[in-house]
Amino acid sequence: MKKSLMLAAIFLVLSGSAFADQGPIALAIHGGAGTIERDKMSPEREKAYRDKLGEALDRGYAVLEQGGSSLDAVVTAINILEDSPLFNAGKGAVYTFDAEHELDASIMDGSTRAAGAVAGVKQVQNPINLARMVMEDSPFVMLAGEGAEAFARSRGVPMVDNKSFDTNERLQQLRKAKEKLRREQEADKDYRAAVQQLPQSFKTGTVGAVALDKRGNLAAGTSTGGMTAKCYGRIGDSPVIGAGTFADNRSCAVSATGHGEYFIRFNVAADICARVEYQQQSVASAANQVINQVLTAAGGTGGVVVLDRKGNMALTFNTPGMYRASRSNTQPVEIAIFRDQ
Ligand code: ASP
Repeated sequence: MKKSLMLAAIFLVLSGSAFADQGPIALAIHGGAGTIERDKMSPEREKAYRDKLGEALDRGYAVLEQGGSSLDAVVTAINILEDSPLFNAGKGAVYTFDAEHELDASIMDGSTRAAGAVAGVKQVQNPINLARMVMEDSPFVMLAGEGAEAFARSRGVPMVDNKSFDTNERLQQLRKAKEKLRREQEADKDYRAAVQQLPQSFKTGTVGAVALDKRGNLAAGTSTGGMTAKCYGRIGDSPVIGAGTFADNRSCAVSATGHGEYFIRFNVAADICARVEYQQQSVASAANQVINQVLTAAGGTGGVVVLDRKGNMALTFNTPGMYRASRSNTQPVEIAIFRDQ
């Protein structure tokens, strides 16, 4: 009797976790939106981007397949993109006007609406990990600059030299951006107008991910170096919960990339989720309205990856291209860069 009771209990536990593990899984990532055109990209460079997006997608998706959490999948995928010099996050981050790197990141847990963010950090190799520590290991949502780094040190996070984020390509971009700013100002444009005139490629390149795990939990994360030639202390949308990152199991998960000032002013990530929650819109329709109507009408450029609890995804942008990749248990791997894939 005792034995059969025990067997029944074991069966219940096992079947319970099996049921909990049966939901759809999905992951969508981006590596920035902007003026990314096929005729301006060499086949080698295109391959390098596709390979790295594929690697980040595979590694993040493997976490979900093995029953890992959506938060772990988001961090796994973002770490790979942060460590690649191809993207404007971690290694490969753009330069500030003063030729430094100031990194922003945020993460949100859709099951609890817990969130963590760091802004303007200079010595943390993987800012998304620090954002997660702020969420899980502090009573705060956002820490900035020296305070964020003191928190990192207190948690044993190794500090790296700011120069470790350097790449020659980003340095050339900074030089070009400063030259353009100088010429615009000479032509009597004020600083504000001059910054607006900078080409899109100087403003974009962030990385991000949204994931759905077997337990039905959504998560979103975003990490960036911000905008080339930004003034020190400038903070974009990426660490701002509701603007660059949002996740709520009742609606959807969003990670954004684009001209951050617009994403903050139009509360882009939260607006998409609000349309899904209150108007019962699909993620595709909500993303399309916010990116292609609201943001476009305001003059903002960029894109988002969006995911709901059923595994529906939208990878939507109003720029010529967006580095992106997605996969779910019902949709095979898709990797794309340009508007026509
Ligand atoms: N949104 C980022 C920012 O404004 C830039 C980007 O997405 O590329 O800081």
